[in-house]
Amino acid sequence: MASQLRIPSPLRRFTGGDAAISVNGGTIKEVLGELFTAHPEIKNHLIEENGDLRNFVNIFVNNEDIRHSGGLDSEVIDDSDVRIIPSIAGGVDDLTPPELARYSRHITLPEVGMDGQKKLKSAKVLVVGAGGLGCPVALYLAAAGVGTIGMVDYDVVDESNLQRQILYGVSQKGQPKLDAAKERLQNLNPHINIKLHSVALTSENALDIVKDYDMVLDGTDNFPTRYLVNDACVMSGKPNVYGSIYRFDGQVSVFNHEDGPCYRCLYPSPPPPGLVPSCAEGGVLGVLPGIIGCLQANEAIKLILGIGNLMKGRFLLFDALEMEFTELKIKKDPQCVVCGENPTVTELIDYEQFCGIPQAEEKKNDFDEITVFELKDILDQDNYPVVIDVREPFELDIAQIGGTTHIPMREMENHLSEFNTNDEIIVHCKSGGRSAKICKLLIENKFTNVKNVKGGILAWSKEIDSSIPQY
Ligand code: ZN
Repeated sequence: MASQLRIPSPLRRFTGGDAAISVNGGTIKEVLGELFTAHPEIKNHLIEENGDLRNFVNIFVNNEDIRHSGGLDSEVIDDSDVRIIPSIAGGVDDLTPPELARYSRHITLPEVGMDGQKKLKSAKVLVVGAGGLGCPVALYLAAAGVGTIGMVDYDVVDESNLQRQILYGVSQKGQPKLDAAKERLQNLNPHINIKLHSVALTSENALDIVKDYDMVLDGTDNFPTRYLVNDACVMSGKPNVYGSIYRFDGQVSVFNHEDGPCYRCLYPSPPPPGLVPSCAEGGVLGVLPGIIGCLQANEAIKLILGIGNLMKGRFLLFDALEMEFTELKIKKDPQCVVCGENPTVTELIDYEQFCGIPQAEEKKNDFDEITVFELKDILDQDNYPVVIDVREPFELDIAQIGGTTHIPMREMENHLSEFNTNDEIIVHCKSGGRSAKICKLLIENKFTNVKNVKGGILAWSKEIDSSIPQY
């Protein structure tokens, strides 16, 4: 007959709440093997890297301590009662000797202490975006011993990320960011759990992802996701530790905490699309997300520990050029559509539409797209139409396609009169996004023969001329 392996309550979170499992092994080693096959996460809590039982865990077979009867090789006869007894009261949420050594500078602080470090260990924090802000946030939370860190991102590591996204290195270019992040974070702290959500956060999945965490750190880089994070936090009652960066300016606050305001109380609706350029278009000082991300991590740790004066109802502005911090007071808006007295937004909406971004059916272009192969054929002709490169001057220094005319995107409107509206005009940029906007602008200004180069100079580098650097 099978034996029963009894699971102590602190470990039942790994067994789906089961207090015992049936096992058939003839030795403790075999019995534990069955347990780890069924619930792999438990292994780390019971066994050292060298395969020994951790020294704060005891195992009893029919009320006998196995240390007196052969250790892990002890025999388990049929129908035995096998119990795992953590030797420290309170179970796995207590700190192991290596953790005590690792966190000693925290534990020494009266404001943190042993209790605080245990709070950090049991905290669950979701980081949305593994970019400029998400990198320092995740590094410091991992180092501080936040027990569960979830990360949401679906991007891959690109050369242009390395100027500020300090989780990644050259050897990880092209890899999914989350895989690279997990590798670095577990190397920094193997005592914590890193949960990866390799998806775009959407209205369909946001509440389901957020519900397992105590708070959300917003490291997004676009308005639709920012409003989505805010609304999901309000609807699930989680604090939103907000950070935002652009060029040399940063913002920090803690939204939706207790009776404090949410992001929508401050900004009820987003700016029209195109008014505020993204960091990809406008640039960002590499160290800025480090500064702002560290401030977010600081607020998250204070929130977990319940210490200090949080940024609730306070809005911090940082100007890196002036080296100036400005603090504004912000208030909860009783009319706020999501957190106010009579909210009208009670479920997640279409945030792309809310932010004025055209929907799929409206996105149908009035201009043609050509491939880089077609562009090559065109440029090989003796008389070819004008090909406008709308990238920034610094990008030309990195890479350019010969025979093109340079007009940066923001100056385009001033140059329209240089062309006839029935001229054939081909537009390219780095990857096709900015040039599509310019094609649209040309169409709006009655140009009739406008073509966008799909994939931009990156595609040219990949398909036509590999000597052109990718950036
Ligand atoms: Zn609000």
